[in-house]
Order: sequence, then C-alpha cells, then structure tokens
Amino acid sequence: MPIYEYICQDCKREFEVIRPMNRADAPMACASCGGEDIKRQISVFYAESGGKAVSGMSEPSCGACAGGNCAGCGH
Ligand SMILES: [Zn+2]
Repeated sequence: MPIYEYICQDCKREFEVIRPMNRADAPMACASCGGEDIKRQISVFYAESGGKAVSGMSEPSCGACAGGNCAGCGH
C-alpha cells in the first residue's frame, strides 16, 4: 500500500498516511488542527521511483565525453 504525504493548508503541518490508492484523495482532517483543507503531496512511493529514473538519465558515462554519450570515445 503506498504512503501518501499530505500537508495541511491551515497549519502547514505535513503528515504521512498509508492508505489504498483508491482512497488517496479521500477527505481527511488534519491531525494537528482539525482543518480539512488538506493537499496531497507526491507520495514517497512515487518520489523514490522518480528519483531513480532521474539519476539513471543524468548518469555520466565517462569523463572523456559530454552529454552522456560514449559513442565517440569507445567506452
Ligand atoms: Zn492543520
């Protein structure tokens, strides 16, 4: 089950909730102030997979060639 991060627009408190995907946008009340103006952040689950994709794309292949393309230097 994915972890979702929410931020309360009233008190700016962030909190994480583990809940089913189909309940991701279900209304909830802030545990701190009881406010119901809650915004969902990008979940940890998705942030992790996204970070891997980004680091894989920008990974430098070698110091001799620029742009992550080693076609010209034989690496
Ligand atoms: Zn709050």
